[in-house]
Amino acid sequence: MRSHKEIAEEILGYPIGEDGCAPCPGAALHTAQSGPRDWRIWFDGEGKPHEYCFHNSCQGARDDFMRTLYRAISDEERGTRGTRKPVPKYQRPLPAAPKAQKVKPEDLNEDLAAALAARVEESITFDWLRAHSPVEIPDNPRAWGELLLKELYPSGSRILVFTAFASQGQYLYVVGDGVYKLGRKPGIKAVKAPRLPAGGDNGVWFLTAPITGKWEPNPGKRDPQGNLMPGRRHSACCTSFPFLVLESDNLTPDVWLKILVQLADPIVAVYTSGGKSVHALVKVSAATPEEFNAIKEGYILRLSPVGADAAAITPVRLSRLPGCMRHGTTGEFGTYIKYDKPRLQELLYLNPAAVHGEPILTMPSRKTRKAVK
Ligand SMILES: [Zn+2]
Repeated sequence: MRSHKEIAEEILGYPIGEDGCAPCPGAALHTAQSGPRDWRIWFDGEGKPHEYCFHNSCQGARDDFMRTLYRAISDEERGTRGTRKPVPKYQRPLPAAPKAQKVKPEDLNEDLAAALAARVEESITFDWLRAHSPVEIPDNPRAWGELLLKELYPSGSRILVFTAFASQGQYLYVVGDGVYKLGRKPGIKAVKAPRLPAGGDNGVWFLTAPITGKWEPNPGKRDPQGNLMPGRRHSACCTSFPFLVLESDNLTPDVWLKILVQLADPIVAVYTSGGKSVHALVKVSAATPEEFNAIKEGYILRLSPVGADAAAITPVRLSRLPGCMRHGTTGEFGTYIKYDKPRLQELLYLNPAAVHGEPILTMPSRKTRKAVK
């Protein structure tokens, strides 16, 4: 009688390694790059097969393979082998997964941006934005970070917070629960922290997509041996992709703000980088990165000619956490330049109930609203 592994190899049409690794039966359906250790098959004490792949897009092909394998194993055990010999159909490559169409960002059209900005006569200052913010911005900046996270994410959401940009995050804010200081590596327990960080060398960021909080293998990152590295901030760790970030690195803040306030898109928050730039958070409510990327194309086509940075519009995006201090900046050659005085990442506008078709410019000012009452 053949071993269950041999039966699996016959169906696959190729050998399975000592460690159970082999090319995934659904590799052609992977939407991220395939690696030699992505897929693994093992047999439990009863010889029952189990399998796992780091990718999700191949699930259908893997289910199909497992059904064929179960049938072949039971045929083998009943001694009916030969009446229905499995066909090694996985030798044939499956058709490739369809690729999302990529649009090319347009170059900045300065005349168009200037003409659009010129439609707003009054000057849009930080004070103007605060006066028109539907949620009142408190005087104490230390309250801003938590206010923004509480207003924009449902209770129980887990938001990753960073004091180092290129890292796996240092804090977790759980809406309705509080702040946790996270371990640097898998297996290190998070501990409750009194508050969000006050500042960072280059400032403080939050991941705009809520996460599970678990470490997961990152299909985009491998160690020198080719194994997937664990991470807690890549797209497989995110539970939804609710917002995109609009920022401009080629327009002056006054022109950019005059454009932002006219947009019909649901802008839920506006804040500064602690440097010169002003960022807007827009509600897109995408469930998956694929859905996010489909939505993003429209934004890039429409807003890249008037100064929006297309490269900043990604499903997994760190954005400045308002109310935190930025102590310096990293210059062109990687040298750190400390500011004379720390700069505040300022919260300028907050509107969790933003809907499409109501530009910031149409929001009544706080004074007007009080007068109406
Ligand atoms: Zn797979």
